[in-house]
Amino acid sequence: MKTDSTLNYKKGEMITVDITDFGENGEGIGKTDAFTWFIKDTVIGDKVTAKVMKTKKSYGYARLDSIVKESPDRIEAKCPVARSCGGCTLQSLDYSAELKLKQNKVENHLKRIGGFDLSNVEIEEIIGMEDPIRYRNKSQFPFGRKNGKNITGYFAGRTHSIVEFDDCIIGIKENKTVLQKVLDFMEKYSVDAYNEEDGSGIVRHVLIRKGFATGELMVCIVINANNLPHSDKLVESLRSALGSDLKSVSMNINKKNTNVILGERTVTLYGNGYIEDYIGDVKFRISPQSFYQVNPVQTKKLYSKALEYAALTGEETVWDMYCGIGTISLFLAKSAKFVYGVEIVDAAIQNAIENAKLNNIENVKFFVGKAEEVITGEYENGNIRDIDVIVVDPPRKGLDKLAIDTMLKLLPKRIVYVSCDSSTLARDLKMLCEKEYELKKLTVVDQFSRSYHTESVCLLSRKDKAV
Ligand code: SAH
Repeated sequence: MKTDSTLNYKKGEMITVDITDFGENGEGIGKTDAFTWFIKDTVIGDKVTAKVMKTKKSYGYARLDSIVKESPDRIEAKCPVARSCGGCTLQSLDYSAELKLKQNKVENHLKRIGGFDLSNVEIEEIIGMEDPIRYRNKSQFPFGRKNGKNITGYFAGRTHSIVEFDDCIIGIKENKTVLQKVLDFMEKYSVDAYNEEDGSGIVRHVLIRKGFATGELMVCIVINANNLPHSDKLVESLRSALGSDLKSVSMNINKKNTNVILGERTVTLYGNGYIEDYIGDVKFRISPQSFYQVNPVQTKKLYSKALEYAALTGEETVWDMYCGIGTISLFLAKSAKFVYGVEIVDAAIQNAIENAKLNNIENVKFFVGKAEEVITGEYENGNIRDIDVIVVDPPRKGLDKLAIDTMLKLLPKRIVYVSCDSSTLARDLKMLCEKEYELKKLTVVDQFSRSYHTESVCLLSRKDKAV
């Protein structure tokens, strides 16, 4: 029997492990004696052999070699590059098991990080997809070079090495056509992919977005230059391949040595620079830089749940912090007295203002700035009095401490927290629920099927007020 000493496991050694748990990134976890192993591409219930890659004092990473006994929840991955691609981590897991896993992940974070006893919380059933395939309305494909040829695909997990493929099954069918046309164009006009090692080459990424309700398509080519040579030929080729659905072709200039995909400047090559889409009956105008939820079918369910939790009667004043292009604000505006939205990206607020006009919604006002600073400033200037509901939908890092402090000063009757990271959600709810608020309801919505990311929506209400 091996003990917990690192020296006992050598790199390259084969181990046999029963997978009994999932890690934070969807990798399987199993033990050999006192040692814990993280093994990607395995699922709970598998018995596998794996090759030791790296060890620490009491845990290590191993690479799946063979499956000795399959878990009853194991399915055959629908994507041929599921193992090497860094995108989906749960392709080999039955979808109903995936939903259970996600529900548990969120509940465990709330218990472990938030210290919540969930027995008094109304926990609703996770809202899954009917068919978790071809759901993403946006994809950003990196370009690179291999053996003297331009290639595209997705990055392998934790690296910048591109796994080539000609289709991604969670993305739209049109991605394949666009990528092929871009590669053909690059070949024909000798435009090389960007090389992040030496800063040479031009094409870094291609961003493709589709409005599912309208069918409208946008292609944005991210370049390491001020201009894309022969860009008119690319536009021509994309237009003939995609027809009238293609509403926007643009180039985004990013000459920085950075992992951030988009640079600051976008130049329209064809069309108006945006596409339009609907969530429910609200119409949205979306530009390449704007944040827009990636799973439109689930977004409608998510926002409907947020609306239900906000319990609006038409009399309420609502703040939508981190409002992006105003999606939640406008979705709620029809049921509220007035909605204020605040967002840090100026272009998104320009879209939000246009979106309000587009829908003839007048009971909204948008602010550009850090949510925590704008709302604090408005409060200190005496511009904010009674707020009935605050909706927050922050990025993964969660709420700023100042935002939490301000919410605790403003004391809205209800807080609806929409979160794409349940660990920061749990941390923030713990602070909000220390004195003033109570966690009343929780629904997990599967926005990111086949990946391990979760989305959830929570209702908090003041302890001294009824829901
Ligand atoms: N509610 C929107 C957007 C949610 S994504 C929707 O559902 O579409 C989170 C948004 O928060 C992004 O648009 C991001 O630009 C914005 N953001 C990030 N940090 C911020 C901050 N400190 N203050 C305001 N907005 C911020």
